[in-house]
Amino acid sequence: MTRLNDETMTAIDQKKLLINNQWRESSSGKTMDVVNPATEEVIAQVASAGKDDVDAAVAAARAALNGPWGAMSARERGRLVSRLADRLLERVDEIARLETLHNGKPISESRNIEIPAAAECLEYFAGWADKVMGETIPVKGNYLAYTLREPIGVVAAIVPWNFPLLLAAWKVAPALACGNTVVLKPASQTPLTALALGEIAVEVGLPPGVLNVITGPGSSVGQAIVEHPGVDKIAFTGDTATGKAIMKSAADTLKRITLELGGKSPNIVLPDADMEAAIRGATVGIFYGKGEVCAAGSRLLVDRSIKDEFMEKLAGRAKKMTAGDPMDPKTRFGALASKKQLETVLRYVETAKKEGAELVAGGARADIGTGKGYFVQPTVFDKVTPEMTIAREEIFGPVLATIEFADLDEAIARANDSQYGLAAAVWTRDIKKAHYVARKLQAGTVWVNTYNVYDTAAPFGGYKASGFGREMSAHALEHYTQVKTVWIDLNM
Ligand code: NAD
Repeated sequence: MTRLNDETMTAIDQKKLLINNQWRESSSGKTMDVVNPATEEVIAQVASAGKDDVDAAVAAARAALNGPWGAMSARERGRLVSRLADRLLERVDEIARLETLHNGKPISESRNIEIPAAAECLEYFAGWADKVMGETIPVKGNYLAYTLREPIGVVAAIVPWNFPLLLAAWKVAPALACGNTVVLKPASQTPLTALALGEIAVEVGLPPGVLNVITGPGSSVGQAIVEHPGVDKIAFTGDTATGKAIMKSAADTLKRITLELGGKSPNIVLPDADMEAAIRGATVGIFYGKGEVCAAGSRLLVDRSIKDEFMEKLAGRAKKMTAGDPMDPKTRFGALASKKQLETVLRYVETAKKEGAELVAGGARADIGTGKGYFVQPTVFDKVTPEMTIAREEIFGPVLATIEFADLDEAIARANDSQYGLAAAVWTRDIKKAHYVARKLQAGTVWVNTYNVYDTAAPFGGYKASGFGREMSAHALEHYTQVKTVWIDLNM
């Protein structure tokens, strides 16, 4: 077994969970392997938690709420969250390396984009900690009525494997800033950076129980968290089917939930678009993050009059993109996160061919010269029709489905013809059309002449089956606080 060979990652080598600022083995003693998808080697073993461990983590989180964390001033809380951000940046090289080792994404993405974005998110919400305020309300009668914005309580953050640390930060940062405590459950494939965040929490002096990290399979430990009566809120990112199951289970204990789910986002190219820019945008839209991006622009809608030229250039570009060793700083296209994901992607490619789509780039497993790793070629299909499987289902990989349209109304109708509504984009030089299309699209984010742009200050979340609630921005604060109205009788 390749060791992580990093003395600061003691928690991982000792296969432990973080509960109440203590590193503990799972109560069953079970562990699970973590695989590097670029080499297929087992790189670590982590604890596989069970129901008892969930009980212990929730109890610790509750005790912290009723203890030092609940008593701490908002400003001091903010300072601690800000220290998490600082320490994350101090350890950025090491944590970026972990993110790449368990996920397969290029180290340049982990080092320069994802981990800094997670730190930025923590910093942003640290600033909000002492600015979450209630209001005084001009009610009728001789009363003073005011509101308090209070934490919800114990928040469970359940995250997927595509942006393991960033998506954890999107939840942990507002939850802590608003005074909640957290039980964080990373995906089984990618637990290492969540454990590193746990280490950092201890290092910077978060009180015991404020951030607990529980590793284990979703079907058992995730389910135990969702059913636990001591958890007040679930902040979930993952598959739409899992989101639905969580919503049903959480109903029994009336938990608050926010769901960030799947997508099949349309990327619309109008005939007046800057073609070179739109081709770059289509490429970034589907191939950034190996297409394992919830907002990936996986449906390319191109005006019939420019489609042939567009597709020729786009396919040429895709063919030039080659997969490489994710640890090489020059690599821009890494390995899919797991064997299962590779198989899923290749199955969709076969289905697309069978259903009559035309393969114009990629379509096969890629080899970086080692004969190992879950690499796939950047893949582009042309002549996709709206009823085909690859036009309807989320693939969550680097596979682009191109559909043509005849006019603006047809473009909008096709874009909205999906159960999903996470993101969308339109490419045009006409400002009126840009605003018109932006209003017509049923999506939580619309990009105009760009793709995959995010900022902690801007909300992100879904319409339709892509979920509800918003992450990042001031909107997230609403999902981590509850409002109490206080009435004071002023009648003399
Ligand atoms: P997944 O739903 O299988 O798993 C996500 C997390 O939920 C993991 O931690 C998993 O262990 C846990 N889990 C699984 N079953 C559970 C259950 N019954 N109860 C509680 N927890 C459970 O999803 P995935 O395959 O890890 O991630 C890919 C999906 O995530 C894609 O559909 C993608 O679109 C979506 N995603 C959405 C966003 C967004 O912001 N909308 C971002 C990233 C990924």
